[in-house]
Amino acid sequence: MKPAPFAYAKARSVEDAVKLLGEHGEGARLLAGGQSLMATLNMRLSQPSILIDLNGISGLDAIALRDGYAEIGAMVRQAAAAKSDVIAKHAPLIAMALPHIAHPAIRNRGTIGGSIAFADPAAELPACLLALGGEVEIVGPHGKRSVKADDFFKSLYETSLGAGDVLTAVRLPAAKPEMRYGFAELSRRHGDYALAGLAASARADGSTLNDVRLAYFGVALTPLRAKGAEAALAAGNVDAAVKALVSDLDPPDDIQEDGAVKKHLAGVLLRRVATQLMGARA
Ligand code: FAD
Repeated sequence: MKPAPFAYAKARSVEDAVKLLGEHGEGARLLAGGQSLMATLNMRLSQPSILIDLNGISGLDAIALRDGYAEIGAMVRQAAAAKSDVIAKHAPLIAMALPHIAHPAIRNRGTIGGSIAFADPAAELPACLLALGGEVEIVGPHGKRSVKADDFFKSLYETSLGAGDVLTAVRLPAAKPEMRYGFAELSRRHGDYALAGLAASARADGSTLNDVRLAYFGVALTPLRAKGAEAALAAGNVDAAVKALVSDLDPPDDIQEDGAVKKHLAGVLLRRVATQLMGARA
C-alpha cells in the first residue's frame, strides 16, 4: 500500500521543529529514521497531515561523556552507536543490545531517539534505558525537561512525550568498574522482534549484587521491571528470582506467542542474565 497524502517540512533546529509541531497540532509527526513510521504510513495505520523531518538538525547526532553520563543524541543512527567507542566503554549494555535490533539496513537509518520515542514494547533500547536508570531529554513548547526512564513509558506505544515535544537525547549513567550488565533475548530468527528479552544492570559489592535492575521487553505493554526478581537476585537466590516472576509478570498473548510461553521464556532469560551478572563478579 501507499501512504495517504501528507505535507513535508524540514526542521532547521529543535526549536523550529517544536514551532512546526505547535502550528500543525495533532496531525503532525516527527520523522527520524523512518524505519517504524514509514511502515505505519504505508499500512495506513497512521495518516499524519504533515511530516516534520529531524534529519539535518545539527547537534542531535552527537555522542559524548558528560557529567558522569553517556549522552546520546536522538538522531544518532543505531549503526553509528554500534561503532562508538564512547558507547562501548561507557554504555556497554547498549552495545550488547544493538546487534539484536533488526538488520544492518534498518540500523543504518533507525535512530536511538526514534526507538525510544516509538516505545515498541518488544524493542531492545527502551528496556536498556530502563535497566540503566537513564533519563530522556525533551524540548517542548514550555522549554526543556528531563524524564527518568521509570516515569517515561506509560502504555502501549505511549510515553510521557506530548504532541508538541521533541526527544533530543538520552542520558545513561556511565559505567563504573563495579557495575555489571546482562542482556539476552529469544526471537524466532536473529533480527526479528524478540518473543521476550531482558536487559539488566547491577552493582557488585564483593559477592553481592546491589541495585539490581531487571527490565523485560516483549512481555507487557511497556518495558517492565521485575521488582520481586530484582530483590531475590540481590539476596543471591536465582531460583527465588525465577519464582518471583510468577507475580512480577503477566504477559498478554500477542501475534508472536502465548503469554504463558513468554512467562516461561522470561525465567530462561533470567537464568542466563543472572549468570552474566554473577559470572562477571570481581
Ligand atoms: P521513525 O520511524 O522515524 O519514528 C518512529 C516514531 O517515533 C514516530 O512516531 C516519530 O514521530 C517518533 N519520533 C522519532 N524520533 C523522535 C524524536 N526525536 N522525538 C519525538 N518523537 C520522535 N526495533 C527494535 O528495537 N528491535 C527490532 O528487532 C526491530 N526490528 C525491526 C524490523 C523491521 C523489518 C523494521 C522495519 C524495523 C524494526 N525495528 C526494530 C524498528 C527500528 O529499530 C526503528 O528504527 C525504530 O523503532 C524507530 O526509529 P526511527 O529512527 O526509524 O524512527
